Amino acid sequence: MEDTWTAPSAGVNQRLSWPNSFAGLGPAFFTELQPTPLPAPSLISLNLSLAAELGLDPQWLSSPAVVDALTGNRLLPGSRPLASVYSGHQFGVWAGQLGDGRAILLGELETATGPQELQLKGAGRTPYSRMGDGRAVLRSSIREYLGSEAMQGLGSATTRALALTGANAPVRREEVETAAVVTRVAPSFIRFGHFEHFSARGQHDDLRVLADYVIDRFYPECRTSGKCSGNPYTAFLEQVSERTAAMVAQWQAVGFCHGVMNTDNMSILGLTIDYGPFQFLDAFIPGHVCNHSDEQGRYAYNKQPNVAYWNLFCLGQALLPLIGDQELALAALESYKTVFPHEMEARMRAKLGLAVARDADRALIEGILKLLAQDGVDYTIFWRRLSRHVAGQAAENVRDLFLDRAGFDAWLQQYSSRLAAEDARQTGDLMLKTNPKYVLRNHLGELAIRQAKLGDFSMVTSLLGLLQAPFEEHPGHEELAGFPPDWASHIEISCSS
Ligand code: AMP
Ligand code: MG
Repeated sequence: MEDTWTAPSAGVNQRLSWPNSFAGLGPAFFTELQPTPLPAPSLISLNLSLAAELGLDPQWLSSPAVVDALTGNRLLPGSRPLASVYSGHQFGVWAGQLGDGRAILLGELETATGPQELQLKGAGRTPYSRMGDGRAVLRSSIREYLGSEAMQGLGSATTRALALTGANAPVRREEVETAAVVTRVAPSFIRFGHFEHFSARGQHDDLRVLADYVIDRFYPECRTSGKCSGNPYTAFLEQVSERTAAMVAQWQAVGFCHGVMNTDNMSILGLTIDYGPFQFLDAFIPGHVCNHSDEQGRYAYNKQPNVAYWNLFCLGQALLPLIGDQELALAALESYKTVFPHEMEARMRAKLGLAVARDADRALIEGILKLLAQDGVDYTIFWRRLSRHVAGQAAENVRDLFLDRAGFDAWLQQYSSRLAAEDARQTGDLMLKTNPKYVLRNHLGELAIRQAKLGDFSMVTSLLGLLQAPFEEHPGHEELAGFPPDWASHIEISCSS
């Protein structure tokens, strides 16, 4: 295998800045290193709409140089790659130092929407790889690439994916697979686990440097907010709690199970991060566990809101040396308990097309969720059919989805009279823009993976297009919006990636 890297590629109109803001934190936070090249990589898919948002040069994007740059074989101008260090709680247990064993930050790009970090996932070993090989396999990389862009398309806060490259290099998991690299994009990849790392080691000066950096860059209002006794770190914990609450409400509303909500997989910016054993629900089964490695069901769909709070509690504990008072930290975390239900209700109301809030809406929401759970109704298909019904485009019957037809009829009657208080034309419109036609169901990802393993990447690219605009009809792609086949329930997705 060729294992030399080449000098920065010319011809990119964008330079990565050095020191980038994360590197400015100092060497306690990372190790500078070169990605390990992959032999003969190829470009599997490029996310052209994100590339345009980032202001990347179209000429460079269509040149052969792009595959080397986005695999880590050739550096982008200005790049001084680094891997950051973090710890975390895995499945409720303190695991100490964990990462980042396979994500390498290339640097930061100035874009129209502010600075964005570019990171390669699977670009080789780092000093934090422990027993790992620093690689990611094609299967899980396709899932991350499509999953994160699907969430973006749905309007959920998430890290993005710019590109997917692959090579024939063997990577050993349960069986031998092949290597791939996802180029991820986010304003920052800092996790709760970064704070836990320095706090657990008693490196309180470093903890403060990290908190000050994140506050100054992403939560400047914490310096001026009069709330939380004027302590910026308390205000910070409160803000992170609020963003996390909004993120998890988005997950619940769209039927997204993260699958591995360890504290190192929680973004300090409230972004969905680390797409591993995630799943968009098929049938609405509240206790559904999507991760086959999660034997206790810790990360079941309906447990996500409480787990997020548990994770925030860990963050609060990590920040205690800066907050100084346990009562203050607990008070800051309280905001989760008010923001989550508020956000959840707002999102469910939007799914029902209700623009104005009424007290009785809660019963309406609980009523339909109970019926969906009772009959294990397909979550995405139900909401889309209901939207079309309200918009007067009913092609298929919503009622047919239920075994308990009388129960559904009674609910629909309540709902119909509630809709009388809304603007009928707007209601259907709102619902069709809130309830997607397309989500990345497990079996769709699986079909794209099977084809990709045979060298055909066309389904990755076609799914990307659909998932980036999941509320559009996309005529001709109906089969991708249908019920999952029987074999879908046998797909086993684990932590192995
Ligand atoms: P995860 O449960 O996938 O979030 O993994 C936890 C941490 O383990 C990650 O942050 C990585 O740093 C590390 N890791 C996972 N897989 C590998 C690998 N193949 N090589 C090196 N490190 C890995
Ligand atoms: Mg992770």
